Amino acid sequence: MTLSTQLKDTVTKVPAAAVAANQAFDYVQPTNTHIEQLAAQFGAPLMVLDCEAIRRQYHALKNALPGVVLHFALKPLPLAAVVRTLLEEGASFDLATSGEVDLVASQGVPSERTIHTHPIKRDSDIRDALAYGCTVFVVDNINELEKFIAYKDQAEILVRLSFRNKDAFADLSKKFGCSPDVAIDIISYAQQLGIRIKGLSFHVGSQSPNPTKYVEAINACAKVITKVSELGLPALSTLDIGGGFPVPYSVDVLPIDVFCAPINVALAQLPETMQIIAEPGRFIVASSVTSVASVMGQAQREGKTWYYLDDGIYGSFSGLMFDEAAYPIDSAKQEGERFESVLAGPTCDSIDVVSDSIMLPKLNNGDLIISRMMGAYTLATATDFNFFKRAEVVVLNEQVHSQVLTG
Ligand SMILES: *Cc1c(COP(=O)(O)O)cnc(C)c1O
Repeated sequence: MTLSTQLKDTVTKVPAAAVAANQAFDYVQPTNTHIEQLAAQFGAPLMVLDCEAIRRQYHALKNALPGVVLHFALKPLPLAAVVRTLLEEGASFDLATSGEVDLVASQGVPSERTIHTHPIKRDSDIRDALAYGCTVFVVDNINELEKFIAYKDQAEILVRLSFRNKDAFADLSKKFGCSPDVAIDIISYAQQLGIRIKGLSFHVGSQSPNPTKYVEAINACAKVITKVSELGLPALSTLDIGGGFPVPYSVDVLPIDVFCAPINVALAQLPETMQIIAEPGRFIVASSVTSVASVMGQAQREGKTWYYLDDGIYGSFSGLMFDEAAYPIDSAKQEGERFESVLAGPTCDSIDVVSDSIMLPKLNNGDLIISRMMGAYTLATATDFNFFKRAEVVVLNEQVHSQVLTG
């Protein structure tokens, strides 16, 4: 079973009541009371996915980057309800594996609205994507380019450049991407092989704290674009500026329109015919999920109360291991004096600690812990370690203009 089907199978839909007024973008997060009602109904651990947050984030980024086609990168939250919501809003999609191809195909996404951006692919990944009708692929080296000799009549290529970013959560340019010089070599060799090069791409790294890296990368790509035409190679038509747009976890980040302003200035320097696309993941989905875990047991250790939750590092909080995302976490219970406490996950592994210092009121077993901003790189990377089942997903507001919760 693929990950996407596993995730899909656990989804429960909550019918939402239609309201008359057009409230599409007056987004209100589900309140603690709503979350507690859902936990009472469906049990814990639970991930509450609010499609209204996805619409809001998609349109916020679209408004901040006018003229840029947004391909949602499925990787941070590969759920069918997310795909359906974004499809309705007119989004395009960024795929990396055959499992992701299957997911968008199953939801009726037209293949012209997809690109495949994994820089290193199995032949089966290429064949599956082409069979679906996705024809744009990414390479960052000659070995990968040669895989497309067999598909040169169907495929078009983006060459991925790398620009290191030690400030990002995940410096993706360490693992993927080539230098501008190597990009020119790849583009020249593609010309000899008869493989069409559509353009360039980069990813500045996830949760990029400032837009400077995008501006530097766009300027470097502009030089490559000029060099390509000076060499008499076919003109590049597309620049893909990747993902990495940041969201506020426990630290504020720039509002997205302020963040994107210098990016737009840099993009305006490119040839007017250049088509610009982006691959946002985290920005679209991070705020859409609120997770609920319940206290399984507790112990006093070295002066602190340890609360053992039914969800942890090997489950919905998996992002804490590699993503350093400081999710806003609190107890549902608000009243009472607060004490320094530890929140531990359910498994028998000692690294399974969600927070080793958090101020909480005295909790009883069964009390709830509510975590916000849990949409990106959480459920997607969760496991069933120790046979603790990953959280179920409850979907709110899949219909546009509907209320957060009925009854
Ligand atoms: C993960 C990934 C994305 C999404 O990145 P975010 O930082 O979540 O926006 C986009 N493109 C590629 C190629 C990726 O690997």
